[in-house]
Amino acid sequence: MATPENKLAFDGGWEYDPAPESTDHVNIKKRYGLFINGEFVAPEKGKYFDTVNPATEEKICRVAEGTEADIDKAVKAAREAYQTSWGRMKPAERGKYIYRIARIMQERAREFSVIESLDGGKPIRESRDVDIPLAAAHFFYYAGWADKLEYAFPGRKAKSLGVAGQVIPWNFPLLMAAWKIAPAIACGNTVVLKPAETTPLTALKLAEVIADAGLPPGVVNIVTGAGAAGAAVVQHPDVDKVAFTGSTNVGRSIQKALAGTNKKYTLELGGKAANIIFADAAIDQAVEGIVNGIFFNQGHVCCAGSRLLVQESVADEVIAKLKDRMETLIVGDPLDKNTDIGAINSLMQLEKVQSYLKIGKAEGAEMHQSSCRVPKKGYWCRPTIFTGVSQSNRVVQEEIFGPVLAIQTFRREDEAIIKANNTPYGLSGGVWTDKGSKIFKMTQDMRAGVVWANTFNKFDPTSPFGGYKESGVGREGGLHGLDAYVKLGA
Ligand code: NAD
Repeated sequence: MATPENKLAFDGGWEYDPAPESTDHVNIKKRYGLFINGEFVAPEKGKYFDTVNPATEEKICRVAEGTEADIDKAVKAAREAYQTSWGRMKPAERGKYIYRIARIMQERAREFSVIESLDGGKPIRESRDVDIPLAAAHFFYYAGWADKLEYAFPGRKAKSLGVAGQVIPWNFPLLMAAWKIAPAIACGNTVVLKPAETTPLTALKLAEVIADAGLPPGVVNIVTGAGAAGAAVVQHPDVDKVAFTGSTNVGRSIQKALAGTNKKYTLELGGKAANIIFADAAIDQAVEGIVNGIFFNQGHVCCAGSRLLVQESVADEVIAKLKDRMETLIVGDPLDKNTDIGAINSLMQLEKVQSYLKIGKAEGAEMHQSSCRVPKKGYWCRPTIFTGVSQSNRVVQEEIFGPVLAIQTFRREDEAIIKANNTPYGLSGGVWTDKGSKIFKMTQDMRAGVVWANTFNKFDPTSPFGGYKESGVGREGGLHGLDAYVKLGA
């Protein structure tokens, strides 16, 4: 809701009128249980935690804290559904259920968008135009594959794996749930999914949709809780496949726990993408792409363009234009349709981002932030750039996951490639140039799972996504996303 503190005023003397999205159509219960075997049930230990609106610091509602016993119940329900209903169902029938989920999500898109912004702090424009439509698109896309697996893997027989244990982060809560659930159930598996503790609400709403779509009980189970609940999901002995999206540190601990087991796994982890601007690029478009890549969605994007490599001859021009554009970005109420940058997802994340601002300054970098006012309550960070950084600086090497951009320069292509590849990550990257040949050369040499050319952060259910090096193992999305949920026989 726009309040006087939330309302953004420019010192330049002009301001947008508030344009808040209505919340009247949103129905949030006071308390949510765990979604197990087709119904919401109380957690075994009776514990609940608050989920908080990061833009106001106010409690939205309470959510069940799942423990090992609850997760065991959920895995048993998933196994039972796999053996008695879903695993035996004709693939075309499974597809119909998944289409139904997609259609109900579309019908309830406004409600999903508002809840995503309330719970996670992201601007409504982003939830409304990106997260929710893309989540529905993933269900549509994988519904189509349910009865066509023999075309996905010609000459091979694709068999489902069994029960998939899935753990997701807070930056794209519903979209990540869709990335995980849609291919898993399209291939005939059943699911236990654990959403992030700071953004459980849209996954719980998705549970309502799944119930409305009439899926047999136990096909999709959604258990809320923190890291311990996630660990219980991935370590459960009756889980056949683990799909994790989150930080590299947790991914590493999961990989260790899975070593020596028979479980198939995919890990989608952190990133530190470089956006590379050549002197021949369309500079205004490139600046807009940089802004989109790091500042929108508060930099809470695994593939965010958190590093900028700009060719020396245009560096002053690019940085000046970037600073001008930063001044026009609106930071504030996520539910306001004018907002560009919403709230940082949690106090913990805000403290992490702030600690990196201190680290950058202590490392000798020059910090520049936009001069906009931010609301008094809530968790906020102005768009920030660091210049004068070197390759070894922590703000260049480490994932900050906030609206913070580290800027370096280069003279030659090979220097840009060396710098772009010189971090432990390899999730994504961007190239901005007028020359097609340069795009081919750069995209071949950059060690990153996705490289965008003259655009950034574009997603589609048909394209695979995943990282090199410490950014993860395996691919999600597209045809490749099916591979992770089947075993192939002759
Ligand atoms: P996180 O690793 O702290 O948490 C992710 C999820 O794992 C949460 O649900 C959490 O409760 C759970 N978890 C925590 N400890 C666990 C454990 N020991 N075992 C099992 N589960 C555990 O990450 P985050 O802070 O929620 O998310 C941000 C991170 O996610 C960033 O590093 C970002 O780059 C990454 N991310 C990657 C992708 C991708 O596709 N590669 C997409 C989105 C986010």
